[in-house]
Amino acid sequence: MATQLYPDYPPDGNDVEQAYLLSNLKDWSIAHGLVVRPTASYVSAETDPSGALATTAPVTLFPSLFPRVCFEQAMSVAQAYNELYSAIASDEEWLKQTVEELVDIDDFIAELWKVYLAVKQEGYVQSLNLGLFRSDYMVHTDPTNPQSGPCVKQVEFNTIASSFGGLSSHVSGLHKHLLAIDAYPEAVGSMINDKSLPESKSVPGLALGMAKAHEAYGPSTGGLPTCVIFLVQDPERNVFDQRHVEYELNKTHGVRTFRLPFGRVLEDTKVDSDRKLIYTPPHAPSKQFEVTLVYFRAGYSPDEYHSQRDWDGRLRIERSAAIKCPSVLTQLAGTKKAQQVLATPHSPHLKRFLPDDSQAAEVLKTFAPIYPMDESEAGKEARKLALDPETAMRYVLKPQREGGGNNVYRRAIPGFLKDTPATHWPAHILMEMIEPPAQDNVIFRNGELQKGGVICELGIYGACLWRHKNGQSDRQILENFEAGYLLRTKGSGSEEGGVAAGFGSVDSACLIDV
Ligand code: ADP
Ligand code: MG
Repeated sequence: MATQLYPDYPPDGNDVEQAYLLSNLKDWSIAHGLVVRPTASYVSAETDPSGALATTAPVTLFPSLFPRVCFEQAMSVAQAYNELYSAIASDEEWLKQTVEELVDIDDFIAELWKVYLAVKQEGYVQSLNLGLFRSDYMVHTDPTNPQSGPCVKQVEFNTIASSFGGLSSHVSGLHKHLLAIDAYPEAVGSMINDKSLPESKSVPGLALGMAKAHEAYGPSTGGLPTCVIFLVQDPERNVFDQRHVEYELNKTHGVRTFRLPFGRVLEDTKVDSDRKLIYTPPHAPSKQFEVTLVYFRAGYSPDEYHSQRDWDGRLRIERSAAIKCPSVLTQLAGTKKAQQVLATPHSPHLKRFLPDDSQAAEVLKTFAPIYPMDESEAGKEARKLALDPETAMRYVLKPQREGGGNNVYRRAIPGFLKDTPATHWPAHILMEMIEPPAQDNVIFRNGELQKGGVICELGIYGACLWRHKNGQSDRQILENFEAGYLLRTKGSGSEEGGVAAGFGSVDSACLIDV
């Protein structure tokens, strides 16, 4: 049962108030690009054969309540997390041990590791790395100790394709606008005000991270114009999220950008004799650009790699001189397995990467217990917890996958394990469920309002640029900053598994003192 921490919220407006709120929400969203491409079930291909339409992004009508202490806690560890994950991504020896436990049972991880080894053998020609990370949290209240107060616990750490930074700045702007035009019933006036709505700086933050990497790469030695590549899925419904960051990069930093579908890497790029990555836009085949940075919004899921060609494309980028956001090692640092190794109770590993004790202690506070599902002592304990229907209710079982819809929750765990050969159990981790306090909101999605209980997940973006020569132990951090926040909110009605695949809605935080 979720605990009660928040006051009654949001208030019900009457029909006229609600119509005012909604019409302003729709107009503001469309006018500011807080939009997505519609699903085929919402707008059919026959209705929109040329793909000209966009629709309002799913958003909450009201900013969801979020304890101020929790928000500040999550913000305060952003730089430490950048430091931590840049250190992990620079520690091949440690990652190798983690990956080795997976290679025999997880083909995707095995293939990524092969790409790394191939480039390592040839020698990396780029020592700069960019991480545009997002650390995801939920508010946790300890049911056995209600006096302890709420804190944030980390759901996962994303090192590749951390999305929604483009829309997040805008939904924060939307809620501020609705407040400014008195679209919220007076009853919330005391709760929502300018001080309680933090601005999300994710668009300028992420663009600044990329601009710093682009600048650190330097000018083309061969005299070509330079560019940043957004490596994308095709089709992509969430394209405007990416466009906001891209346009900021163009406008504020004067950086030329191109969208390159993941499946077209071999056609549209080549690696020259110095291993510079050269891009030729298909619409202008006589032009060439030297690529300074490849920003991955694709390539994180096995279903994107249809054949060896796609792996060859990945290898081409990895062996090139372009800065990768992320490199293969940085992507592997973000596996659930790596998170588990750090967060297993009494794990000694955090110290290896964060020698500063007070920094490590703050990061440690954000860990929820996570167990391996292997033959180790902790693994045996986890297997017992996961197979017992009663204890399984407090856990979620996760494979090494990104992008939602892959987890097995609570009562479904024992049955899932019985249907899975025990040799494959170690490909998963077992994580204690975080139990956020109950609250309500209204989600506007595909033209419909859904009112009811919601669960919020706070993501803090971090940008980190570092230099590390493969095979050496020293690492130099050039940039390390927090880069805005995201609040995602989904209905709490269905079992978590059912809603995890859809992202629910984008939201902003209304900070409250609890
Ligand atoms: P993915 O890489 O698929 O995004 P996540 O670890 O973020 O994987 O899990 C997907 C969703 O499952 C999360 O957004 C969250 O809603 C839910 N979830 C995952 N871990 C937990 C947890 N420990 N407690 C509560 N909910 C969780
Ligand atoms: Mg996630």
